[in-house]
Amino acid sequence: MSEAAGSRVTNGGAQQVDVAVVGAGFAGLYLLHRLRKAGFTTIALEEADDVGGTWYWNRYPGARCDIQTIDYTYTFDPELEREWKWSEKYATQPEILRYLGFVADRYDLRPDIRFNTKVTAANWDEATERWLLETDSGATVSCRYYIMATGCLSAPKPPEIDGVKDFSGEVYFTGRWPHQGVELAGKRVAVIGTGSSGIQSIPLIAEQAAQLTVFQRTPNFALPAHNGPVSADRLALLEGDRASYREQARWSLAGVPLPQQTVVSWQLSEAERRARFEQAWAKGDLVYILTQLWADQAVDVDGNARLADLVREKIREIVKDPETAAALTPHDHPFGAKRPCLDTNYYATYNRPNVTLVNLRQEPIKAITASGITTDSRSFDVDVIVFATGFDAMTGAIMAVHPITGRGGKSLSGVWAHGPETYLGLTVSGFPNLFMITGPGSPSVLSNMAVSIEQHVDWVVDRLAALREAGFSTIEATETAQAGWARHMADCSMLTLHRLANTWYTGANVPGKAQGVMPYTGGVGPYRSICSEVVSRGMLGFRLTGPNGAEQCNDGEIVRLQPDVRLVLNMLAEMNLPPIESMGAEGARAFVAEFNKGRPAGRPVGEIVDGTLQGADGPLPYRLYRPATPGPHPIVVYFHGGGWLLGDEQSDEPFCRDMCRRTGMIFVSVGYRHAPDHRFPAAAEDGYAAAGWIADHAAELRGKPGPVMVAGWSAGGNIAAVTCQLARDRGGPQISGQLLLCPVTDCTFDRSSYTDNATGYFLTRALMYWFWDLYCSPADRTDPRVSPLRGRLEGLPPAFVVTCEFDPLRDEGVAYAEALAANGVPVEHLKARGHFHSSFVMVDVVITGVSGRVRMAQALRQFAGLPPQSEEVRLGRITSPHAIAAE
Ligand code: NAP
Repeated sequence: MSEAAGSRVTNGGAQQVDVAVVGAGFAGLYLLHRLRKAGFTTIALEEADDVGGTWYWNRYPGARCDIQTIDYTYTFDPELEREWKWSEKYATQPEILRYLGFVADRYDLRPDIRFNTKVTAANWDEATERWLLETDSGATVSCRYYIMATGCLSAPKPPEIDGVKDFSGEVYFTGRWPHQGVELAGKRVAVIGTGSSGIQSIPLIAEQAAQLTVFQRTPNFALPAHNGPVSADRLALLEGDRASYREQARWSLAGVPLPQQTVVSWQLSEAERRARFEQAWAKGDLVYILTQLWADQAVDVDGNARLADLVREKIREIVKDPETAAALTPHDHPFGAKRPCLDTNYYATYNRPNVTLVNLRQEPIKAITASGITTDSRSFDVDVIVFATGFDAMTGAIMAVHPITGRGGKSLSGVWAHGPETYLGLTVSGFPNLFMITGPGSPSVLSNMAVSIEQHVDWVVDRLAALREAGFSTIEATETAQAGWARHMADCSMLTLHRLANTWYTGANVPGKAQGVMPYTGGVGPYRSICSEVVSRGMLGFRLTGPNGAEQCNDGEIVRLQPDVRLVLNMLAEMNLPPIESMGAEGARAFVAEFNKGRPAGRPVGEIVDGTLQGADGPLPYRLYRPATPGPHPIVVYFHGGGWLLGDEQSDEPFCRDMCRRTGMIFVSVGYRHAPDHRFPAAAEDGYAAAGWIADHAAELRGKPGPVMVAGWSAGGNIAAVTCQLARDRGGPQISGQLLLCPVTDCTFDRSSYTDNATGYFLTRALMYWFWDLYCSPADRTDPRVSPLRGRLEGLPPAFVVTCEFDPLRDEGVAYAEALAANGVPVEHLKARGHFHSSFVMVDVVITGVSGRVRMAQALRQFAGLPPQSEEVRLGRITSPHAIAAE
């Protein structure tokens, strides 16, 4: 042990440093290196007697990484990369530990690490604006900045089983395995737990022990690692262009350079899916199988089930005893929602004569006794018990290890009593100058940790340097920013299936722990861009203070869009498209047609029929979508979007298919006439005529005779609303309900949504001006057939109105919903937070739009007098309708 270079010891005895780091694992070591290079005096406090963090403690047999080691490695220094060569595809714990030791020596980090030192308290001193750390050795440290690099899986969970103390044999925890190893030969061994640690160690323990009994509570998915030399093609990719390989990893979703899949499972035949799966199974790569088979595997229960079923088949193939195979087969969570494991001979181990599986779901453990383990129905005498029971993950090491007291004497454990709250997973409001590396709210455990750690460390150290440069001495997240991050986290968690499993990701593995998805599920690349945006927007969400009352606070939320909407808009911005209104009508139509070619087509429906109906002034094309269920079905007359100018009866096909499936109703999408050839009121009159024709021909269309419903998006919403008014005034057809999705309802442009969302959200104010100009002369614009808000609103059919927060048309939609309600029309209004004009029609792209469409479908079913289709919600395929409801 030595003192940090440039640090001082004051009279009170506290060592004074700029920055104190807790932990000397992957994160702590890189922090030390960066801080030192940035000129900060620093010290790392480490409980162990050497570097390594998680790789220091987890020395159980079979411990290896499960991200390919060429990716699970530091990338900050090309020289380091040249000097260290990994020997295997998945390095063993000893090799990774050697690597971390090598890094510590190469950068001479050990002198700044105080080993065998556990922090026992950390208190923020308001007067000096410093953290005072107490340690178990009695030494204290005073620092300006306190950085927790304590890891996500470093606080082992207590056994939670009665009688452990009574056991007369040996007890081990995988997370605290003795350094000298454990002699298991000839012994009767029990392993409790079948997570990654259990699954890695069980095959090796089985080889040594006389008898192994595995106590399994929940079966987990495991895939063969096919360990061996680093794969040649991967290595060639890396060595071909190291910099771009690393850069691709940094901007990927999981921190490994793999592309994003675009093909969805139902677009592939069963044979194609199986071929993809077999290829992935043979690869032995967790991130590959988690991301590369089909695009909907991680976001949709059906897409996931297709993959999970194939894994289950494999388990049945490998395990000879059908009962054991059944017990080992997971059924209670989607594949990937709980961390799957990479194994070597795991399932085959259960074919060994010396291995027994005890299914704790059938016979729970009653107690541990002096001689072994007693379940509800049997007793097992054993010599050794291995607890592979996991960790108090993500918050355990930060919160439980020592009290942290921030501004006003508030303790972190108090503040986090109902679950961790952070800004970016890096900071906590009320705890100035405290940072966490891979804290709850960061992508951390859902990513390649090495990539996330480097990003977090770089961001934090760069900020500290910038603060110093600007003369500030404190930095603290604002409450607004933190609450916004919580909302964004919740939005992100709707994108994946992690919320559907009881795991350590959600805190469910620790009795009494607050539950919620703790890691950031939005992906490594998006997270990185958000962190950069915080800086480029003037440290948005942080309060900075300095001497002499200097203060800067740029309060606000960094992400207000739904996460997938943000991705779509960023992608569109990167395409740098010319404004649509500059393309001319024909050019714009060609653009939309081309654009639509690139989108997912929508899921299959029972039947799609093209036909011709009678419009206001001649025949019009239509496309009919029929459910696969037995009819006759109620009919929805649908009007596509496109500013009365663009699109056609096929252009909203994914939306029509989706709604046809969800409602169990026929959707007839009408190809009404377009401007500029056919100006106002052509579209409105066509809409009305089409609704009448469809109602009259319901039986011919094999639909349910009687009232129809109308629906439309954008200008189509306008036509739907107008059709209802005309039908009321002109004596039919009978309309039982109207679904208005982001409708145009009025001709003024002075509502605030037109200003707030004038640009940047695809539908711009300028584009709307153009649409209006081409469709309708100024003199006609107040006509209710184009501005239905100005019409008479009594006696209209019940309405479901959807408005999107980031849409120029938002406020006129809101006004229409309010005006309908004021005129006695039953109205349900979905104010979709964080969504833009196209959110709900971008089916299978904007996944967070699903819950909105579920509500729309339920409303349509209600209009038709049908019971709600609750199956979607029940299966978890659809998120709670309240997820994006008005606040
Ligand atoms: P884990 O995934 O939380 O698994 C713990 C296991 O113990 C589960 O099967 C759990 O059952 C069981 N368990 C817990 N308490 C129990 C009790 N009281 N009675 C009976 N069974 C009990 O923990 P882990 O295996 O240590 O892995 C944690 C994470 O560490 C992994 O997901 C992974 O991210 C990381 N890890 C990575 C590697 C690697 O890189 N290769 C290796 C090891 C760990 P339930 O599921 O029913 O709770």
